[in-house]
Amino acid sequence: MATAPKKSARCPFHEDSSASFSLYVGDDGEERWKCFAGCGQGDAIDFLAKHRGLNNATPAGNTSASPMSAATRAAVEFQSVSIRATAV
Ligand SMILES: [Zn+2]
Repeated sequence: MATAPKKSARCPFHEDSSASFSLYVGDDGEERWKCFAGCGQGDAIDFLAKHRGLNNATPAGNTSASPMSAATRAAVEFQSVSIRATAV
């Protein structure tokens, strides 16, 4: 698989006036993110955990759902940022 180009976006975790948030694909093929302003870095799961902590309005429904479904949800949410990042 070809390596996806790195994408940049405004960081969703802090008041970002420039595109400090970077999305890229790691050596293992997993999409990863990094904020150069210091919000951290990680994979889709880390992203969701951090994003959830930020948005406490997220409905607390199936917190006991399987890890698989959490991973799926993380991927979806992560993708939505990826798509926005492409548009920058
Ligand atoms: Zn940030």
